[in-house]
Amino acid sequence: MLDINKIRADFPILSQQIYCKPLIYFDNGATSQKPKVVIDAITKYYEQLNANIHRGVHKLSQDATDAYEISRGKVQNHINAKFPYEVIFTSGTTHSINAVANGFASILKTGDEVLVSALEHHSNIVPWQMLCEKTGAVLKVIPMNEAGELILSEYDNLLSNKTKIVTVNHISNALGTINPIEYMIKKAHEVGAAILIDGAQATPHLKPDVQALDCDFYVFSGHKICGPTGVGILYGKEEWLRKLPPYQGGGEMIATVSFEKTTYADLPHKFEAGTPNIEGGIVLGTAIDYMNEIGFDNIASYEQELLEYGTKKLLEIEGLKIYGTAKEKASVISFNIDDIHPYDIGTIIDKLGIAVRTGHHCAQPIMDFFCIPGTIRASFAFYNTKEEIDIFVEAVKKAKMMLT
Ligand SMILES: *Cc1c(COP(=O)(O)O)cnc(C)c1O
Repeated sequence: MLDINKIRADFPILSQQIYCKPLIYFDNGATSQKPKVVIDAITKYYEQLNANIHRGVHKLSQDATDAYEISRGKVQNHINAKFPYEVIFTSGTTHSINAVANGFASILKTGDEVLVSALEHHSNIVPWQMLCEKTGAVLKVIPMNEAGELILSEYDNLLSNKTKIVTVNHISNALGTINPIEYMIKKAHEVGAAILIDGAQATPHLKPDVQALDCDFYVFSGHKICGPTGVGILYGKEEWLRKLPPYQGGGEMIATVSFEKTTYADLPHKFEAGTPNIEGGIVLGTAIDYMNEIGFDNIASYEQELLEYGTKKLLEIEGLKIYGTAKEKASVISFNIDDIHPYDIGTIIDKLGIAVRTGHHCAQPIMDFFCIPGTIRASFAFYNTKEEIDIFVEAVKKAKMMLT
C-alpha cells in the first residue's frame, strides 16, 4: 500500500500555494510533477557529469556515455524490450511518432491504407495525414461508440491486405479509455500490418511489456512519468528499425560520410542524429527507478480508487455529464456541466488553487464526436488524494453556482 504523505513529501511543488491556496494538481495528463530525486539527478548531471557522449576519449565523456547507456538499459528492462538497441531516445512521443510515420514514406504506395483510431491525440493523427499526402495512401478511422470505446467489429472490417500500419493509443488522454491493444495487435498482424502503440498516457499508470504485447512500435514521453521534458522513447522491433530509413541526418547517426555516399550507423544511433538530450536521457532512468520503487501495481490500484471516488462525487452534481465511460478506464475524468463553457469553470477553480485542463485536449475529433467545444479534465496521479478530490468537487459546485 502507498504511504501518501511520504510520497507527497517527495514532490517539492506539491507544498506550493497558488493564490494563497494549497495547490491541487489534477493536470497530470498534460505533464506529471517531478520528485526530488529527479530534480537532484538533473543538478548532479550538470555539476558532475556534463560532457558530450559517444565522442570523446576523455573520462567525463566516457562517464556521461556510460550513464546514458545504463539509462537505455533501464528503459529496456522496464518495457521488456529484447535488445537495448531497440530503445531509441527521442525528444518525446511526438518526435517518436513522426520518426515512424516518416520512415513509412519509403514503404507505402498509392492505395495502401493507414488505420488511425478515433481516440487519438493530434500528434498521432497529423503525422499520418502528412504521410498519406506524401504517398497517396489512404487514412481510415476506427470509430468509437458513445462510451468512448473503439468499435472492434468495425476495426475488423477495416483491416485488409491494403492495411500497412495501424496506430492507436494504449490509453486515451481525453477520455481515459484503456484500449484493447492485445486484440488489436493480433488482428493487425493477421493481415500483415505493423502496429504502433502510443503509450504516452499509459506509461504513467502501468508497465508495458512490449514482447508480450508483440507490438511493432511503442512510444512515450519522459515528462508524463515523473521525468524531464524533452526526452522520450521510440521502441521498435529490430527488424522494423533496420527496415526504416533514418528520420534525421547529422552527426552520430553515420558510419562514414563522403560527398559521394554516406553510410548509416548501426542501431540505435541510426535514429539518434545530433547531440541528444543527454541529461534528459540519463534522468529518465532515475524517474523510471522512482516509479518502480513505488510499484506500478500500487499505483494502478490507488489511482483506480481515486477514479471511482472522483466519479461518484462528481456525479452528485446536477447537470454534470462525464465523457468517456468505458469499462476499462484510467484515472482521467472529462466532464461538462449543463452548457457552461469548460473554460469558465476552469478559470474559477484556478483561482481556488486547482489545476485542471480545459479545452479539446489536443483531440478535437473526439470533441466533434460529442458535439462539444471541449471538456474539463481532471487527471489523477498516485500523489493525489481523496481530500483533494473533495476540495475540487466543492470548487466545481461553487463555480456552477456562480455561472448559473
Ligand atoms: C501527451 C500525449 C502525446 C504527445 O506527447 P508529447 O510529450 O507532447 O510529445 C501523444 N499522445 C498522447 C496520448 C498523449 O497523452
